[in-house]
Amino acid sequence: MPTPAPASPLPTIEDVRAAAARLHGHAHRTPVLRSATADARTGASFFFKCENLQRMGAFKFRGAFNAIAKLDPAQRRAGVVAFSSGNHAQAIALAARELGSTAVIVMPADAPAAKLAATRGYGAEVVTYERLRESREAIAQRLADERGLTLIPPFDHDDVIAGQGTAALELFEDAGELDALFMPLGGGGLLSGSLLAAEAMSPRCAVFGVEPAAGDDGRQSLRSGGIVTIGVPETIADGAMTTHLGERTFPIIQRLARDVVAVDDDALILAMRFFAERMKIVVEPTGCLGAAGAFAEAFRWQGKRIGVILSGGNVDLGRYAGWLAGS
Ligand SMILES: *Cc1c(COP(=O)(O)O)cnc(C)c1O
Repeated sequence: MPTPAPASPLPTIEDVRAAAARLHGHAHRTPVLRSATADARTGASFFFKCENLQRMGAFKFRGAFNAIAKLDPAQRRAGVVAFSSGNHAQAIALAARELGSTAVIVMPADAPAAKLAATRGYGAEVVTYERLRESREAIAQRLADERGLTLIPPFDHDDVIAGQGTAALELFEDAGELDALFMPLGGGGLLSGSLLAAEAMSPRCAVFGVEPAAGDDGRQSLRSGGIVTIGVPETIADGAMTTHLGERTFPIIQRLARDVVAVDDDALILAMRFFAERMKIVVEPTGCLGAAGAFAEAFRWQGKRIGVILSGGNVDLGRYAGWLAGS
C-alpha cells in the first residue's frame, strides 16, 4: 500500500546545519580514518567516519542532543522519556544531563545488567517493564502524560533525523565529495539525515542503507513503495532489529537513497575482525553493517571514493572476544 504524503514538511539540510551548530562543542568531531589494506583489497578508496568514537559510543548522541536542545525551557525542566535497551537510551541519558534536563528510560526488566547500569551511570532514572506483559510504548506514553515528560523516539522524529545527519555532513566537509556512501539502516534516522547532507554536499554521491539479511524490511519497503513491517529479526546487529522504517524517515529514503542492500551476520563478524586487526578500532556488529555492505559492493566502485559510517562501538566484551576468536 503506498504511504500517504507526510502531513507536515520533512526536515531539510537547513535543519541538519542548525543541528551541527547546536552540537558544536558538545559532540566530538569524530575522525575520518583511511585504510591502505581496505583500498588494496577492493580497488576503491575508503573513508571511514568513526562514530564508534563518538560520546557514549555511537552517533545517537547527535540526534538525542539536538532533540533535547530544541525543547523550550519549561519542557526541558520537566524532563524527557525514551524507550530503548540500546544506544538511544544512553544517548538520551547523557544528552539530558548535559543540557540540564532529566531523563526517564523505559527498559525491559531482563535487559543486560551492564546496560541498565550504564544508563543509570549517565544519570537517568530507569523504569523497567515485563517484556511479555506490557508495551513499552504505552508505559512511556503514560509517564509522559502523568509527569509532563516529552517523549523522544529513537528515529521517527525530525530533530533526531537532523541531528543524525551531522555525522555525514562532517564526513563530506573533511573528505570532500564521494562517489558512494554506505551506512547501517535500522529505523532510518541515520540514513535519512545523511541523505539530506549528501544531497547538499555531494549531489552525485550514491547513498546506500545496509541492513541485516534477516530483517530486510527497508529493502522490501523501497521495492514496494510503502512501509513494510516484519517480525523482529534474529541477528547480532542488535541496533538494527527494528521492524519497520518511520513515517518521517521513509519518504526521505524513498526520494534520495540509491538502494538498500543486506548482509548476513558472518560478514559483520569478518568486518569486526578487520577493524580490530587492521585499524585497531572496536566496532559493534550493527556499526559494521555499512562497511560489510561496502566491501560486498566495492567491485562496482573500482577507483572510486567510498564513504562508510561506522555507527557505533558498544559491545559486550565477552561476546566480542568470542566473535574475534571465531567461537
Ligand atoms: C540505532 C543504531 C543504528 C540504526 O540507526 P537508525 O537511525 O535506527 O537507522 C545503527 N548503528 C548503531 C550503532 C545504532 O545504535
